[in-house]
Amino acid sequence: MPAARILSGTDVSAEMRAEMKEEVSALKSDGLTPGLGVILVGDNPASKSYIRGKRKACEHVGIYSVERNLPTDASLAEVVALVEELNADSAIHGILVQLPLPNGLDEEVVLNAVHPDKDVDGLHPVSLGRLIRNQEGFLPCTPHGVQQMLRRSGVDVAGKHVVIVGRSVLVGRPLANLLSRKVEGGNATVTMCHTGTPDIGAYTRQADVIVVAAGRPGTITADMVPDGAVVIDVGVNQVDDPTRKRGYRLVGDVDFDAVKEKASLITPVPGGVGPMTITMLLYNTILAARRATSGASV
Ligand code: NAP
Repeated sequence: MPAARILSGTDVSAEMRAEMKEEVSALKSDGLTPGLGVILVGDNPASKSYIRGKRKACEHVGIYSVERNLPTDASLAEVVALVEELNADSAIHGILVQLPLPNGLDEEVVLNAVHPDKDVDGLHPVSLGRLIRNQEGFLPCTPHGVQQMLRRSGVDVAGKHVVIVGRSVLVGRPLANLLSRKVEGGNATVTMCHTGTPDIGAYTRQADVIVVAAGRPGTITADMVPDGAVVIDVGVNQVDDPTRKRGYRLVGDVDFDAVKEKASLITPVPGGVGPMTITMLLYNTILAARRATSGASV
């Protein structure tokens, strides 16, 4: 079995962002600039770094973005008031609240305050409900990014067995819904594994496509992967590495070096699903702007 082809999220993202740049330029000529409002509460360095990445990505495709900061000790009422201010701002088509929120602020209350027409994260109960009901709406960014990577690299999941490891609301559960829908890019038979699954390898060995979002290095080892499977690694984990200046490196949930010898296609970490998540945020912001000006409610 030849070693797997690497499925680069950086490359797929670059392709999609180039398409979006043209689309935004055409929208601007028609007087419409898509706008994204990002809320950061506190000064978590990782969150600040994610926000920088999002700002740069917005600039690249021509999306207007504003960042609104609140101090670490902001109250729930203050955060919700800021969300509501952006809900009412017609220059802002999409709102992103950077998680995690500090000091035990109730994330669900804050996320639910985002108007469903501006829910570019796709995690509002209305968006998730629409996904399950197969209605048009904002798709959650990471699962949608995984689906785009598969489609754009020529992997048709229709009729295939997809095994997803992880059942979070952020990744596993919406992805299972997306890939099993009876529409283009779906129609897969999906199995979802989690910590209650006694022998995950018994399922992954029957898979055509394995998607892992467990947040634990080494969740998928070579003996769990059938020859020729497609392996998508959503996991991002910091492991100590004294040879690196920052003292750690990022790895996924898959034992990459061994698994790439068995898989036909595999995503790296970093440079795999990560860039796609931001790309799908841009995609949703453009969709939100189009929908807002057409008078439609997503
Ligand atoms: P999460 O909320 O902690 O959920 C993890 C899921 O994996 C849970 O359903 C858990 O099962 C399951 N799980 C954990 N360890 C397992 C194991 N050993 N065997 C089987 N299942 C296991 O995490 P998340 O938010 O979905 O994120 C998962 C990973 O993806 C993290 O590394 C995160 O950093 C990464 N991520 C990356 C991106 C990106 O853009 N690249 C985006 C989102 C998340 P239980 O439900 O039974 O506890």
